[in-house]
Amino acid sequence: MIQSTDLITETAQILKDRLESPVSLREPLAKYTTFGLGGCADVFVNVGTLVDLRTLLAVAFSAGVPVTVLGDGSNVLISDLGVRGIVIKLAGEFNTFTIDGREVEAGGSVGMSRLIAETARAGLAGLENVYGVPGSVGGCVYMNAGTRYGWTSDTLVDVLVVQPDGKESLMSRDDLEMSYRHSRLQQMNPAPVVARARFRLESEDSSAIRSRIAERAKARQASQPLNHRSCGCMFTNPGSDSAGRLIDECGLKGLSEGSVSVSGKHANFFVTDEGATAADVRKLAERVRNRVRERTGITLDLEVRLLGEWPDE
Ligand SMILES: Cc1cc2nc3c(=O)[nH]c(=O)nc-3n(C[C@H](O)[C@H](O)[C@H](O)COP(=O)(O)OP(=O)(O)OC[C@H]3O[C@@H](n4cnc5c(N)ncnc54)[C@H](O)[C@@H]3O)c2cc1C
Repeated sequence: MIQSTDLITETAQILKDRLESPVSLREPLAKYTTFGLGGCADVFVNVGTLVDLRTLLAVAFSAGVPVTVLGDGSNVLISDLGVRGIVIKLAGEFNTFTIDGREVEAGGSVGMSRLIAETARAGLAGLENVYGVPGSVGGCVYMNAGTRYGWTSDTLVDVLVVQPDGKESLMSRDDLEMSYRHSRLQQMNPAPVVARARFRLESEDSSAIRSRIAERAKARQASQPLNHRSCGCMFTNPGSDSAGRLIDECGLKGLSEGSVSVSGKHANFFVTDEGATAADVRKLAERVRNRVRERTGITLDLEVRLLGEWPDE
């Protein structure tokens, strides 16, 4: 839905009047993503409190202005045309966590790597199975991020969400219907915002947890192009096969479009150089998808989430 400029400006003014959180206009979003790509948000708010989050969503809902949530931007491709409406990023009180016995409650913007380090230090195991995922707690719940060792859902108990109309509710892990790289939040449009998540972990000697983390860090360094900008894996694995293996088998490592190429180190990573655009990433994804389909009959699905206004939609 195209929003009128007047409506956006008027809504931004209401938010400036009613929120303590900073509100900006025409905010460039590339810097909030690991790809480093994408245009501007009409309105951008770093939301620092639950009260502000509830107010913002209620105001946007009644004005009919869409709200898009950004976590750590490690699994999104933002259009070069940017995002219409309001983009929010959680901050402030959403960036804190508490540990109570084996239970950990973390705000939606807490970095998963920080949480893993702190819980390991406290002798709590479980979250290290998603070690290496560079996202926030909210983004990891939304994506059910995971690795070969485990998924976010394994230790999740429930999440506090704020619904699009500004009301809070609690969703249990079962409510979220989590499976490989999937949670029910992905089907909800507009989706609620994950404000907090509660995890239940196991007690274990902290040096044992840390040594697992160190091993996994080494394996990642060896197999992933971590010194390039990317969003991790572009495609989900089809069934029990590996998207990276299929792309490699089709001889597509090094294939490029503009300044975006299929990594020579890990075929499911697209890496970008100076001058890359989001449009190039999409074109390259389409070419890879077509070549894999022609050669193997398998259609790969994007893991990365497309955000914003795309010319073909
Ligand atoms: C180098 C690299 C390695 C990676 N390795 C892995 C891996 O091993 N396994 C894996 O699963 N992923 C991996 N990823 C992808 C990514 O880190 C995960 O998908 C992560 O969960 C995304 O979290 P984020 O906070 O960055 O979310 P974003 O990328 O900002 O957002 C992703 C989606 O979640 C939604 N979202 C974000 N925050 C919230 C919230 N608070 N409430 C509601 N919705 C929200 C967004 O709207 C968007 O649709 C990798 C990425 C990189 C760059």
